[in-house]
Amino acid sequence: MIFQDMAAYRAANFAPRVAIIGGGPAGITVAHKLHRSGIPTVLFEAGGEEYTEESQDFYKGKTFGDTYFDLDVTRLRFLGGSSNHWAGWCRILESYDFEAKSYIPHSGWPIGRADLEPFFAEVYDILGIQAFEPDHPVTDSFRAMQMIKSDHVHFGEKFRDELARSGSIAVVLNTEVSELVGNGRSVTSAKLWSRGADAGEMTASHFVVATGGLENSRLLLWSNERSNGGVVPNAGALGRYWMEHPMYWAGNAFITNRDALKPDADGDAFLIPSVEAMAKLGVPNFHIQLETMPYFGAKKFMADIACRAPEITEWVSKTLGSHLQCTARVHIDWEQPPVESNRVALSATDRDASGVPRIELHWRKGELDRKVLLEGMRLFGEEFARKDLGRLRISDWVRNGDDYPDDMEIAGNHHMGGTRMGSDPATSVVDGDCKVHGMANLYCAGSSVFATAGQCTPTTTLTAIAVRLGDHLARTMAS
Ligand SMILES: Cc1cc2nc3c(=O)[nH]c(=O)nc-3n(C[C@H](O)[C@H](O)[C@H](O)COP(=O)(O)OP(=O)(O)OC[C@H]3O[C@@H](n4cnc5c(N)ncnc54)[C@H](O)[C@@H]3O)c2cc1C
Repeated sequence: MIFQDMAAYRAANFAPRVAIIGGGPAGITVAHKLHRSGIPTVLFEAGGEEYTEESQDFYKGKTFGDTYFDLDVTRLRFLGGSSNHWAGWCRILESYDFEAKSYIPHSGWPIGRADLEPFFAEVYDILGIQAFEPDHPVTDSFRAMQMIKSDHVHFGEKFRDELARSGSIAVVLNTEVSELVGNGRSVTSAKLWSRGADAGEMTASHFVVATGGLENSRLLLWSNERSNGGVVPNAGALGRYWMEHPMYWAGNAFITNRDALKPDADGDAFLIPSVEAMAKLGVPNFHIQLETMPYFGAKKFMADIACRAPEITEWVSKTLGSHLQCTARVHIDWEQPPVESNRVALSATDRDASGVPRIELHWRKGELDRKVLLEGMRLFGEEFARKDLGRLRISDWVRNGDDYPDDMEIAGNHHMGGTRMGSDPATSVVDGDCKVHGMANLYCAGSSVFATAGQCTPTTTLTAIAVRLGDHLARTMAS
């Protein structure tokens, strides 16, 4: 069932057991799972079925620290959420991404990849992808991994018919949960704002906050403030340890053995370091992407090399005519380590139309970010040359430690942390089942629960966690 607003929903007298807040990949995945279990569920979606300026305005906010995207540009507020403009790259966090590492403060999840594995087949089905191929060793420390470029499923479109036909799922569009009310043990009700007006309250036995990797923190921070700590009783980590995947063009390469790099059909090769290499360098996870350059770029690269790196020019001259295959632009994406001071906070002065304070995002890259960028590129360059797969030239700004350029991508639009998963309520918000510490009936879904970011795009993993959460809720309700 799909209702256009709260008035239409109220007229249907639907009695939900579960309330899901947010209709993006996370919320729709939980609803999809509960639909299969027949559990009466309502899903509130703040936007409608199309983009509107009016809805998007609720996402405006301010950023402090490093240059970041405008907060109303880096996400979308209508059914399907940011899946309406995601790029579709898929990959699941590796086992070691879930483990605690001495060289990454605050690393370690209370669950492992094995806990998600039983749900992978459902995830592939949801995202319309095949299982991932095994990695291929390329150098001593690097493996080629498969990143799957999916058909970037728009969740609102893909699951619309299922949701519309379902007798157990009610989707209420144009309806925002503006506040959760809690007593320190459970959430007792949700306050609603529908079509520009107060739409009263509703209740359910379980609540799932799935409003996105920035908004989950915002809704819970605001609700907790209004309930005097009654929604997140252990709020020390709430909004904190927020993470992104910084990503930059950081060099160029000549390639002599392209096949060894296992490029995909578009000519992109993705290389990831071994656990031993990361531990030896003491850096978080990262991947290096080699993208075949268009010819004009190659020419410029040649000219640049001839002036500034004669040793590479000599090697190129010898290699030309024998087995030089192509050139590549080199991109690096890395796992930003969780840092307490990177956080989502509430503005003291600016509010949206429903009266909820807007976000102030405090975000900086730190020393470990610098280290993984430089050391990661260096190690790759050394091993690439030693194996005679080609030669890498690291960009001057990386080698010299200059400011990060802001004429590149900057980061992935991957919003992680803020309601991170952990065993210790002092440094985490939810437990291994995505349940808010100390609360009987409040859960979070989405990449806000990531304890660490790994090196890959987040949506495949967050979908796996959401399927698992749906399974957990279905079993909890059945018992
Ligand atoms: C340009 C871009 C490219 C990307 N490319 C990739 C990629 O290639 N691979 C990848 O893995 N990820 C990618 N991502 C990230 C991906 O889009 C997100 O990981 C994913 O959409 C997060 O899903 P979500 O359901 O947690 O949140 P969202 O997609 O943000 O959905 C949240 C939903 O909740 C609704 N909502 C918000 N507040 C409320 C409220 N108070 N009450 C009710 N409803 C509310 C919103 O309207 C929205 O529909 C990209 C993102 C962007 C912006």
